[in-house]
Amino acid sequence: MAPQAEHIHRTDALIPESFISEMSELGYFGLAVPEEYGGSEMGNLAMILTTEELSRASLAGAGSLITRPEILTKALLGGGTEEQKQHWLPKIAVGEIMVGIAVTEPDIGSDVASLKCRAERRVVDGEDSWVIDGPKSWCTFAGRADVLALLARTDPDLSKGAKGLSLLIVPKDRFDGHEFEMKQAGGGRIVGKADATPGYRGMHSFTLNFENYVIPAENVVGGDEQVGRGFYLQMAGFAAGRLQTGGRACGLAQAALEKTAEYVVDRIQFAKPISEYQLTQFTLGRMAARIAAARAITYAAAEAFDEDERKAAPLAAQAKLLACDIAVDVTQQGQLMHGGWGYAEEYPISRYVVDASVLPIFEGVKPVLELKVIARNLLA
Ligand SMILES: Cc1cc2nc3c(=O)[nH]c(=O)nc-3n(C[C@H](O)[C@H](O)[C@H](O)COP(=O)(O)OP(=O)(O)OC[C@H]3O[C@@H](n4cnc5c(N)ncnc54)[C@H](O)[C@@H]3O)c2cc1C
Repeated sequence: MAPQAEHIHRTDALIPESFISEMSELGYFGLAVPEEYGGSEMGNLAMILTTEELSRASLAGAGSLITRPEILTKALLGGGTEEQKQHWLPKIAVGEIMVGIAVTEPDIGSDVASLKCRAERRVVDGEDSWVIDGPKSWCTFAGRADVLALLARTDPDLSKGAKGLSLLIVPKDRFDGHEFEMKQAGGGRIVGKADATPGYRGMHSFTLNFENYVIPAENVVGGDEQVGRGFYLQMAGFAAGRLQTGGRACGLAQAALEKTAEYVVDRIQFAKPISEYQLTQFTLGRMAARIAAARAITYAAAEAFDEDERKAAPLAAQAKLLACDIAVDVTQQGQLMHGGWGYAEEYPISRYVVDASVLPIFEGVKPVLELKVIARNLLA
């Protein structure tokens, strides 16, 4: 991935299919899937180390590929029926299906309990079905994905809030490019258009519109028993996503430190390499120490997650919060040490800066993590 990372970023290209199949062969998508369902179940630390190394090469081109399958895996393990686990998990584990997560809507972000995209239970062509209508936004990898894990309002009574939501597995065809239209024989469709972004390129993040899109009734995670429990299943998946984002941030920050250390040795100003100025050494020292701290809390959260996912969720949120702040700071410090060349696309530090800026936004925007996840848990 490393030699392709710049090309993907500058041309806003989709991750090459060959990379996905190589990752599949190496078992990267099965790290969180138990052996009985075809995975390697290596645990959360192995998943974090893998994510970190991939993110060192490219945040979106590699490091984020296993995040979405992981979120659906955790939701299925937490609340899926035995039949669903046997059907979906082996396919996720071998990379046969790629996953998109469709929670956010154009008007609803942090306030997930208020989301409006509807799914109605109906009989369509003699089949018990869910019919989906409404918009979603920021659905990363939605074009290439084979299924979308979609949180929808299945109870039209808005006063039910989070209790009116269910998690649906929505099959779709694969599309490359920045726009797509998925049509069903009965007239249902999904229209998708990627929103242009300064960084985090390689997967494309789509605004979607669902119109009368029909899926089998059995595709509600957990079956009829879990109708109305989708919010809680999704939140368990997000706790894992946050942990993994800690790993993504550590890998990206490490890449910035390495490229900066190389640059300051080569760059000569006032007749000596800038690495010989104490201010440069002081800054590098702080960068390295902060990355070590980010790594320590993320690994600790991964090990705690292996013990008890529910209890470890606040620590995973803290790891995400701290590691993402550090990645933003370290990439910007690295850019400053590159001077003007840090702003040139020719140097990867400029990519690291724009990629890092998304980290405090997704998987729980920073103020909401601080207030609603970490502090609320502490006070409780
Ligand atoms: C590149 C990218 C990829 C993404 N991928 C996905 C994806 O694959 N699937 C998906 O579902 N979503 C995805 N997202 C969406 C992401 O999870 C949301 O952007 C995020 O949850 C924040 O929601 P929002 O953007 O609506 O911000 P808002 O919720 O509108 O928050 C904006 C700001 O309002 C303030 N605020 C909000 N609520 C409170 C409060 N209670 N107290 C104090 N302040 C508050 C905070 O300052 C916050 O920063 C992605 C986003 C990006 C940018």
